Amino acid sequence: NAARDSGARNSTAAAAEQILGVLLPLALFQPYDYLVPGDFALRRGDFVTVPLGRRLVTGVVWGEGAGDVPREKLKAVAQRLPVAPLPAITCDFIDWVAQYCMAPLGAVLRMAMSVPEALQPERQQKAWAPGDADPASRKLTPQRAKVLQFVADQPPLPATELARATGVTTAVIAAMGKLGLLKQVPLPLPRPYGRPDADAAGPNLSSAQADAAAALARLQPGVTLIDGVTGSGKTEVYFEAIAATLRAGRQVLVLVPEIALTPQWLTRFEARFGAPPAQWHSELTGLARRLTWRGVHDGSARVVVGARSALFLPYRDLGLIIVDEEHESAFKQEDGVIYQARDMAVVRGHLAKIPVILASATPSLETMVNVEGGRYGAVHLPARHGGAQLPEIGLIDLRVDKPPRQSWIAPSLRAELAATLATGDQALLFLNRRGYAPLTLCRTCGHRLQCPRCTAWLVEHRFHQKLMCHHCGFEQMMPPSCPACLSEGSFAACGPGVERLAEEAAALFPEARRLVLTSDTVTGPARADQLMKMVAAREVDLVIGTQIIAKGHNFPHLTLVGVVDADLGLHGGDLRAAERTFQLMSQVAGRAGRGMKPGHVLLQTHDPDRHVMQALKSGDRDAFMAAEAEDRRAAGMPPFGRLAALILSGRDEAAVQQKARELARAAPHRAGITVLGPAPAPLALLRGRHRLRFLLKTRREIAPQGVLRHWLRGQKFPGDLRLQIDIDPYSFM
Ligand code: ADP
Ligand code: ZN
Ligand code: ZN
Repeated sequence: NAARDSGARNSTAAAAEQILGVLLPLALFQPYDYLVPGDFALRRGDFVTVPLGRRLVTGVVWGEGAGDVPREKLKAVAQRLPVAPLPAITCDFIDWVAQYCMAPLGAVLRMAMSVPEALQPERQQKAWAPGDADPASRKLTPQRAKVLQFVADQPPLPATELARATGVTTAVIAAMGKLGLLKQVPLPLPRPYGRPDADAAGPNLSSAQADAAAALARLQPGVTLIDGVTGSGKTEVYFEAIAATLRAGRQVLVLVPEIALTPQWLTRFEARFGAPPAQWHSELTGLARRLTWRGVHDGSARVVVGARSALFLPYRDLGLIIVDEEHESAFKQEDGVIYQARDMAVVRGHLAKIPVILASATPSLETMVNVEGGRYGAVHLPARHGGAQLPEIGLIDLRVDKPPRQSWIAPSLRAELAATLATGDQALLFLNRRGYAPLTLCRTCGHRLQCPRCTAWLVEHRFHQKLMCHHCGFEQMMPPSCPACLSEGSFAACGPGVERLAEEAAALFPEARRLVLTSDTVTGPARADQLMKMVAAREVDLVIGTQIIAKGHNFPHLTLVGVVDADLGLHGGDLRAAERTFQLMSQVAGRAGRGMKPGHVLLQTHDPDRHVMQALKSGDRDAFMAAEAEDRRAAGMPPFGRLAALILSGRDEAAVQQKARELARAAPHRAGITVLGPAPAPLALLRGRHRLRFLLKTRREIAPQGVLRHWLRGQKFPGDLRLQIDIDPYSFM
């Protein structure tokens, strides 16, 4: 390999054939080597097409070649695409994420490229505009006159649309083109985003808000938490940091947990900055995706609001990242490349030496520990804007205050609901469980309806008239008879889902105007917006919903929130169960009392003495989090120790067990490292795959990635066996 050019990374027009590594957006752990014809000047980040098998694939020049394939076997780069390269920081970030998450480098690149077509020039449609010929000099039939009149005061349209709009045939339009009465112009591409005005005036800030905004608008590199109760003005405050970044001429990324549910956020942004931001999420159409990708790349998209994958867009000059509701577990991507977007946002900010702002009313324990340790800064907004009071939280002890049989609303909550509705105020019943009932069983033989592909019960959804598996999406109709004992009509629903709760509410309060909000009824952003507006406009008395209502919506007339099962998230042995319960309950509680009247929240629980319930009642978040942190420190759990989960899966149970034994034999034995398992994963069967899990726990100063690389070196996973690595696991599935 004498010809390997160590300066390839930055070289321009190297002499005869150098070898470069080209990374392809496929599940590959490293770039492939390609020859570069002498007349190409290529650098890291350049987009190229290369032959792969019989195809031509678009990839990115990553660095010098590895030199592990003999030169005569190498193929040559086919073409350099005429677009700006992937920015250096984006390349470095991809390297970093792949290393940290132990994910295939090419799979991470795929998130950054996500739309290879964006690299090709958009094929522009032609449209018709008024021509240069003087109409008086041509023969004007009534049809032609009509078309001329139309195009005089309309933006140009493609021929078919113009024909439809004016009621003529396309032949008429073509003829008018020949006569010069019309001329063809490129159809302007739609712009899915606008140019926000950095100097547009914001509201008058309270003094706490102004102090916080001033601290953030200094735009110092590093991470800062905006810690403020719901309704304290966190959004207004970070809008000031956005304005400051725009004035500095740089781009802004706002990461949000569920973009589809934030029409209110978009409306507010547009009201403040006079233009819509660019959006990035899975529901974008192909064209909007391409245009946004390009706008981010060429710098014309100034502010991007998006779900976690927006982190991987090729920003031309990113100057600020904001992670809103930073405690949300939705920032953890659980399939494909498994990563925590909030943590990766911090890394992205660090690589670019730019500020990162985390906002939350109930920050994650990790973030609180980082603030405590001085690694992150913090600004505080202790009060709701405009003096609105935080709602009072009370507990209902279900062991004493028992709901009647086949009912889930305790007598005291029922009385409170009745009183609230009687005064004309709004109430909300919250149950974080979709469907009618979480379990359906046969009264004759006890058979339980289970997903054939997972260790999970099938959940009855009356709204859709189906049984559904919430883990794999399997669906079936309710069988006419029990599959085990063949009795007919013997099925019984066990426990409540939100649909069953709605049934109870209807029986108790038949006069109340009720609305059920779950992912089954809120089918998309437009529908969400419509339903939330109905609630805000007081067209509804009683809202019954799942966590879909917990996010950022403002209900000024809501004064009572009843949580039907506050213990729901506490089962299952999740490290973060209590923390998450605290966060979700606080968030739901925060929906109440946002208007003039104070709010009131009642949590139904079987265990009111539990620490988290007492903390919710007293409102002492910091003491609760400090105690949680102490527990984690004592157990060596994150963030005081490190954790990685390994899930081994396959269709053949014996093969999975056999491989697990092999892995167990090779497991590391060293001080500071603990390997737990193999044990059946909590979902021991998922989509027909048997799953065994190892947990690797290390002391803080030991990186689990190094331990894992050593452990897994040379391990083969034949057939359909698969090992999924989850660094910093969240869900313990
Ligand atoms: P958070 O993000 O902390 O929940 P928001 O920024 O959404 O709080 O503010 C809550 C409500 O109060 C919003 O309707 C917002 O427009 C309003 N608000 C906050 N601060 C101000 C202010 N300084 N002037 C006027 N309205 C404000
Ligand atoms: Zn039966
Ligand atoms: Zn299933």
